Amino acid sequence: MFRKIIILDGYTDEPSGLGVPPYINTYPRLIAGVFRLFDKTIDIRYWTIDDARSALSRFIDDSKSSDLVVIIAGCEVPGKYVGGKPITLREIEYFAYVLRDISKVLVGPIARFGYSYGGGSIAVSLKKLRGFFTEIVSGDPELYFYSLLTSGWEKAEPNRLRDNYDLADKAFRNGAFIVTQHPNYGWNLIVEIETFRGCPRYIRGGCSFCIEPRFGKPIVRSQRGIIEEIEVLYRLGIRHIRLGKQPDILVYGSREIGYEEFPKPNPVELEKLFFGIRNVAPGLRTIHIDNVNPGTIARNPEESVKAIKIIIKYHTPGDVAALGIESFDEKVVEANNLKVYPDEALDAIRLINRYGSIRGWNGLPHLLPGINLLHGLPGESRETYIVNYRYLKQILDENLLIRRLNIRRISVLENTPLWSKKNI
Ligand code: SF4
Repeated sequence: MFRKIIILDGYTDEPSGLGVPPYINTYPRLIAGVFRLFDKTIDIRYWTIDDARSALSRFIDDSKSSDLVVIIAGCEVPGKYVGGKPITLREIEYFAYVLRDISKVLVGPIARFGYSYGGGSIAVSLKKLRGFFTEIVSGDPELYFYSLLTSGWEKAEPNRLRDNYDLADKAFRNGAFIVTQHPNYGWNLIVEIETFRGCPRYIRGGCSFCIEPRFGKPIVRSQRGIIEEIEVLYRLGIRHIRLGKQPDILVYGSREIGYEEFPKPNPVELEKLFFGIRNVAPGLRTIHIDNVNPGTIARNPEESVKAIKIIIKYHTPGDVAALGIESFDEKVVEANNLKVYPDEALDAIRLINRYGSIRGWNGLPHLLPGINLLHGLPGESRETYIVNYRYLKQILDENLLIRRLNIRRISVLENTPLWSKKNI
């Protein structure tokens, strides 16, 4: 059915999960893996959008001689990137038109949450793109392509979301080879690793702007699945990974996920994960994390300290615990069901500093908070900026270290509570 497929990576950025160079996200690995799982002889070629732009006619020729082009897209977190320029809506339309005689599938966050022009904008719904593509897949790509390969175009299920990682784990192992086709491979490529999906706060709706609770009850990947994938990646030469695809690494393995809005960290399960990774990939030069929910630290300080100590024991220094504080203004916190009040956020910053600011073998502090603030949220006023400034000043006055500060404008995405208020 398929002899050759092209994966065009237009880059992705979600609250959990980054796929702009030097990072490679999960989508290309899952897609390549499910095809390889089915047929080892399929020729699978990976292009980044930057490479396709700079060798356009070669990319078009390569695509025209294929049986299927899969376009991955969706930068739903507002930001600008040094490592690459995400695909634009016009480029998606252009490729869809130029490759009109080839089967094309659009996947990634764009299919689920619309195309975001960046901070300060309302995402564009994809209704107008439907005619250009054979299918737009808002579900998980491995499930869709597996059903396509086994049941054909008519019966393939574009909207199905996984309820476990059985197929994804196999696809991750089989699709790991695709990293060797990435332009940053052998240099500074960082492979984004998924540990769980869905925000535990979904039981109270989650933050007004966020897409993560829309996945429903979180599902957690087993240590075995994660470690086996990293072992394959390590054998392929990967030396930089980030455990970044989850909303809060501290609660990985917590038995309270799905029951409590702010589950208690489970340090034993977290240690099994990190220990296992170190065991199969002892020469990793980067093991970093991403998101940490400051609300977890505020409500479970004792268990959080244990979890932070485990991360520091096994990771590499220079790590960032990205804290989505979003606003220090209590009115904004309440209007948007945010996860943490300002004084709690400050406590979380202090606690991470207490254990993480010690310098490691490479001279960098082990683990520092990264602060994310959003502006444009409902409830915001002039006062919000004064309050935010005061809290940032206090961080400075207390000599607390932070790794970075992101101040972004809100993007209003489909399927979020903010989307329903976009015309108000
Ligand atoms: S805590 Fe808020 S921002 Fe973080 S993943 Fe959950 S809903 Fe999203």
